[in-house]
Amino acid sequence: MPALPTAILFRDVSILDSTGADPYPGDVLVENDRIVAVGAVDPAQARDARVIEGRGRTLMSGLCDAHTHFSWNNSADLDGLGTMPVEEHLLFCLESARTYIDSGYTMCLGAASAKDRLDVVCRDAINAGRVPGPRYLANGPEIAVTGGALIKSITKFADGPEGMRKAVRELIEFGVDQIKLSMTGEEITGTQRAEDTYFSDEEVAAAVTEAHRRGKRVCAHARSAESVKMCVRHGVDIIYHASFTDAEGMDLLEANKHWVFVAPGLNWLIATLYEAESFGFPQEAAEAVGYKKELDTAIAGLREMHRRGIKVLPGGDYGFAWTPHGTYARDLAHFVELLGFTPMEAIIAATAWGGEIMLRPDELGKVQPGYLADLLLIDGNPLADITILQDRTKINYIMKDGRFHKEATDVAAPTPPNPGNIDRNQSAPAQA
Ligand SMILES: [Zn+2]
Repeated sequence: MPALPTAILFRDVSILDSTGADPYPGDVLVENDRIVAVGAVDPAQARDARVIEGRGRTLMSGLCDAHTHFSWNNSADLDGLGTMPVEEHLLFCLESARTYIDSGYTMCLGAASAKDRLDVVCRDAINAGRVPGPRYLANGPEIAVTGGALIKSITKFADGPEGMRKAVRELIEFGVDQIKLSMTGEEITGTQRAEDTYFSDEEVAAAVTEAHRRGKRVCAHARSAESVKMCVRHGVDIIYHASFTDAEGMDLLEANKHWVFVAPGLNWLIATLYEAESFGFPQEAAEAVGYKKELDTAIAGLREMHRRGIKVLPGGDYGFAWTPHGTYARDLAHFVELLGFTPMEAIIAATAWGGEIMLRPDELGKVQPGYLADLLLIDGNPLADITILQDRTKINYIMKDGRFHKEATDVAAPTPPNPGNIDRNQSAPAQA
């Protein structure tokens, strides 16, 4: 393995720092795993740095997906999540992790794992540097009550407050970072309605209390109006979907917006409604079971959440046949096109708020001195065209922890050369 440079200077970049400031030209100096200087960098400080010539390209934080499933295996058959043998499944998860970071995602929050330890094993392997992947907060199988599972074969069943406590304790013993409650239905199952709520207040309260007692957060699949309110009342930290949030739920979310996150998984709804036909779920069928109504209701609600300053984050339940891994940044375009976010707001939601949902707001998600060097060098301006973040060829460099995961070799030669320190390690293999 080649020796790693201790300092890297991104010279002449357009700095999109995720503070909300307009991008500005300058340099960014990385030493070891941290950003140490941004804007006007003292040449003496950067004297020994390897130089990456930005030529005006955009330097920004790596992205966050707030609703990640490494173990969703691109299948059109939901039960395939349960029947895939664990050996093949782990391999698939490792490939998903790599696809995330290949796509510019350096932060992912696990939203459920199809088998007990897939997520935690991936997280630990990434953290140990054995495989490439984003920073990851691992989940376990989602908890559902009897009769309330979306996919039985990947569910951990629990009933009653005591059952919830035991399930949470068992998942914590596996090593998860957060707990997932599957509180409502999902129309594609054919039997579980999105507006059904399966958990009781006592069960949600018990699960959250037990998780929080152990310093773990709780996230929830919560499509119905009642489930959203239960989540807020009982302190569920991250609410997924929230499609049918009613006026009371909206007020509750707003009153608690200093701690609660909403991650709608919007691309799932859109793709399930409009793009699943070749996988046996045509638009007429999706509309017939209510996905059009759910999408329209969700968009109206999410726009209102955005207007009220409730934190809504991208992250889209990727990993089904019609929402395949690697298409993650579609969420940002949906936020702009459908939810009224400006491109800057969508990027802040995917970066600075990503740092918040990863519980490291002072270290992740911004291009600021002292932050960890998780950086993307983008060939283009994502504020002018948010969809370029979906094009991996435009993500020329990907850095995590100050180490390059990807170094572009297919971009134009730097101008003008400064012999001695220009990209002198260009030929070094990408570091995982
Ligand atoms: Zn999900």
